[in-house]
Amino acid sequence: MTSFTALLDKEKIDREDIIRLLSAAGAEDMRRLYDRAYEVKKKHTGTAVYLRGLIEISNICRKNCLYCGIRRGNTSVERYSMNEDEIVEAALLAHEWGYGSIVIQSGERNGGDFTTFIEVIIRKINAQTSNGLGITLSLGEQSAETYLRWYQAGAHRYLLRIETSDRDLYRTLHPFDHSYERRIECLSTLKEIGYQTGTGVMIGLPGQTIEHLAGDIEFFLDIDADMIGMGPYIPHHDTPLGKSFPDSGIENGARLDLSLKMIAATRIALKDVNIASTTALQAIHDQGREMGILVGANVVMPNITPARYRRDYQLYDNKPCLDEYPSQCSVCIENRIKQIGETVGYHERGDSPHFFRRMKRSSEKKHNGTFNESL
Ligand code: SAH
Ligand code: SF4
Repeated sequence: MTSFTALLDKEKIDREDIIRLLSAAGAEDMRRLYDRAYEVKKKHTGTAVYLRGLIEISNICRKNCLYCGIRRGNTSVERYSMNEDEIVEAALLAHEWGYGSIVIQSGERNGGDFTTFIEVIIRKINAQTSNGLGITLSLGEQSAETYLRWYQAGAHRYLLRIETSDRDLYRTLHPFDHSYERRIECLSTLKEIGYQTGTGVMIGLPGQTIEHLAGDIEFFLDIDADMIGMGPYIPHHDTPLGKSFPDSGIENGARLDLSLKMIAATRIALKDVNIASTTALQAIHDQGREMGILVGANVVMPNITPARYRRDYQLYDNKPCLDEYPSQCSVCIENRIKQIGETVGYHERGDSPHFFRRMKRSSEKKHNGTFNESL
């Protein structure tokens, strides 16, 4: 069997290799894994950490995912929707602070009014920042027409996690109104339209195994994702999954290690994608996001949702910084990044290098196709 060190040097890794990376145990092998992932990140995505200001625009959701605190079945949540001015104002603050991008996220809402609402907001933000902000959307499953309208209005990236790539586990977590095939179809439509396309999973779900997680990384490779957003699964007390498994079946330290190993192994396998160090990591360890950056993540999403809405957007328990103002979060995360010796990529969109490589490959394919046809 290849030694662990030799495994880290392999140019292309397979499923068995990924399982070995995720099973790394003992301080020495874990350190080697993390250091290698950090090196790969610096080589393929550069030295900066990019900031995406996260605006949680509404907690109204038509879905009922068993794990999520804002699922429609949770009647103890007070529902809200930020208005157009509030959203644009938050985006302008991010711009003023030198963030390269924002992420507009909400529960899943569909329909003509919502599509138009988002479209207008994207156009306004672009007009008022002279197209100076990268705009990422995280608004769930939508029709191809809606995705296209938002893209044409000037959104650049879309995040839609597969949550778990294992079909059986997926069905267990979404027994009501989800279809795995529909999720895949959405991801493929987003790529076709031209979005930088992101996906990801939750780590440490009840019933999830190392093999499932290795399958998730293979899935990221198979769909040729440009961005990855992953974080630990954290129970929410008012959800069916949270009630059935209040401690999620995995102890906090192990969940943190597993999340960091997933980031590191994903970096080693996918190389030049953008990987986010998510807030959920901070929820299980005060320095979780900094740890994520040091093991391969290159993106952080400071929460810039106005303080008055934060308590109502709790996807999981122990969400950090519920009473902070956006400006406090901004200063805090920037200091934290600097304290670990990393550089913030101010005024830069920090697009995924993988996206440009994918676009180039696809245009070469088209070009070769035309050439062959004309022979
Ligand atoms: N409604 C959209 C976006 C908001 S939810 C969507 O579902 O795509 C954003 C992400 O929050 C989800 O993709 C899910 O991975 C994560 N999430 C929800 N509940 C969670 C929990 N209990 N623990 C950790 N992450 C959770
Ligand atoms: Fe709604 Fe997204 Fe939560 Fe599912 S994960 S219930 S779609 S907000």
